[in-house]
Amino acid sequence: MGDCIFCKIVDKEIPSNVVYEDDRILCFHDLEPKAPVHVLIIPKKHIASMDDVAEEDQALLGYLMAKVKDIAAQLGLENGYRLVNNCGEDGFQTVQHLHFHLLGKRKLTWPPG
Ligand code: AMP
Ligand code: ZN
Repeated sequence: MGDCIFCKIVDKEIPSNVVYEDDRILCFHDLEPKAPVHVLIIPKKHIASMDDVAEEDQALLGYLMAKVKDIAAQLGLENGYRLVNNCGEDGFQTVQHLHFHLLGKRKLTWPPG
């Protein structure tokens, strides 16, 4: 997608610190980490948000979700973690390419702000 920053990261037009990559998904470190471990897991396919997930994306998102535990293990998050999606204006989504924040290595409070 034209000027999507995460599509550019997928295409390696913008550098990122890659944690995991395969043909369908990419995981890289967040530029402004909010926890000692803070990575983003994205589908390589441009999907703008959770609100834009189509029927045909079910297998892709199921695949991504099933990879979370492997990425968490790779990052040493054996004591737990939080997986977050911000959707739309009220969800404070700032990048319009679907992404899941994986945060860990500190005690995370609840509820979020
Ligand atoms: P959200 O507010 O849920 O849309 O999250 C967007 C996240 O992308 C924020 O945590 C940003 O710090 C992060 N981010 C923005 N640009 C980059 C980039 N070039 N590389 C890595 N993370 C980024
Ligand atoms: Zn994109």
